[in-house]
Amino acid sequence: MKKITIAIDGFSSTGKSTLAKQLAQYLRYIYVDSGAMYRAVALFVLQNELINGYELKTFNLIGKLHLIKVTFKYNEALEISEVYLNDINVNEAVRSMEVSNVVSIISTVPEVRQQMVSIQQQMGSEKGIVMDGRDIGTVVFPNAELKLFMTASVDTRAKRRYDELVLKDSKLSIHSVLDNIKSRDFLDSTRKESPLFKADDAIEIDNSNLSKKEQFDLVVKLVNTKLNA
Ligand code: C5P
Repeated sequence: MKKITIAIDGFSSTGKSTLAKQLAQYLRYIYVDSGAMYRAVALFVLQNELINGYELKTFNLIGKLHLIKVTFKYNEALEISEVYLNDINVNEAVRSMEVSNVVSIISTVPEVRQQMVSIQQQMGSEKGIVMDGRDIGTVVFPNAELKLFMTASVDTRAKRRYDELVLKDSKLSIHSVLDNIKSRDFLDSTRKESPLFKADDAIEIDNSNLSKKEQFDLVVKLVNTKLNA
């Protein structure tokens, strides 16, 4: 059976992970949340005090990169793959606002990106993979058979992320979520190294007014076209 590579890129909180997970389950492909990898590095930075406010100790971080091992393990009970930092499950910890607030600074560092991209490319070497992130269709898998670029209005995205996070932190304000999304969008799309942009051959999907099912049905049609090509 033919296997393809599916790259899903887009701004923060556009539902990339939800779609990628659904697709991987449906196709029995590997799913990789590349954002979780940058988040794991950000957690390492926080744990090792390699950032002071928003001032990253870039040189020190680069010197410690060899100490950072980011892996995924499938959790049979939850039916999801979870991210590990140096063999410790950090799947929950990487979702905190502390991590969200610094991750886009850390992901600008070329050496960090090189290390993550090389792991991502290894994971996708046999195709049959759905990976979501910011540079998947442009840098990680420029030859992916299917590239999607997800967008949605910033208010829709903030509301979705807030609804998700407020269950764990009832003191959270929608403004802090909105500010975080805006600042990550800005940093991610203006950085020098592998900025977020739509690849020429990516298909843009604005899901502001699409239900999860409508979006999934649309994408399955696109996948089938590629599988039958
Ligand atoms: O996808 P998620 O929002 O969890 O990603 C967190 C951050 O990781 C992004 O805001 C971005 O700075 C960085 N990232 C990246 N390249 C990727 C995936 C994520 O720079 N492929």
